[in-house]
Amino acid sequence: MILLHACCAPCSVSAIEWALAHNIRVTIFFFNPNIYPREEYEIRKNELIRYAKSVDFPFINGRYDHKLWLTAINGLEKQPENGIRCIECFKMRLYETAKLANLKKIKKISTTLTSSKWKNIEQITEAGEWAISNYPSIKFFGENYVENKLLKHKQISLKKKSFYNQSYCGCEFSNKKL
Ligand code: SF4
Repeated sequence: MILLHACCAPCSVSAIEWALAHNIRVTIFFFNPNIYPREEYEIRKNELIRYAKSVDFPFINGRYDHKLWLTAINGLEKQPENGIRCIECFKMRLYETAKLANLKKIKKISTTLTSSKWKNIEQITEAGEWAISNYPSIKFFGENYVENKLLKHKQISLKKKSFYNQSYCGCEFSNKKL
């Protein structure tokens, strides 16, 4: 069993297809208080619920507290995407994932963030390792699902296209229209 932090449906396709191909049970955890505004958050969440239901994986809904997220990245608002604001953002989301895994006695956590071609995998790994550092029984599984050669890429991109596809990463600082 893996507790999979998931940021949205399109980014979850590679990880979920990987789990299905390897016969691994996954619980999907949606914890993304970075997403702004709330309407966008609800759209991404509902798309992921729809996907989780279609593959019969359990879905856990995390708390949405955007003010708390803003506190976590305080002073880093002007940092560019893929800069240190993103590391703090990854840390917050993966720490909550590790905490939940500990509570549920799940030994592995992972994240769909590694599936995004826009994200820095070293930063995500750093945040994941930091998140589990207080939980010696938990491992961070930083699989690069996109590069996994066992997956059928054509099928995956077709599936991705059937989901709502956002035009920005998530926070207000990544949305050029705000
Ligand atoms: S750009 Fe994305 S990863 Fe970076 S802080 Fe904003 S929501 Fe988080």
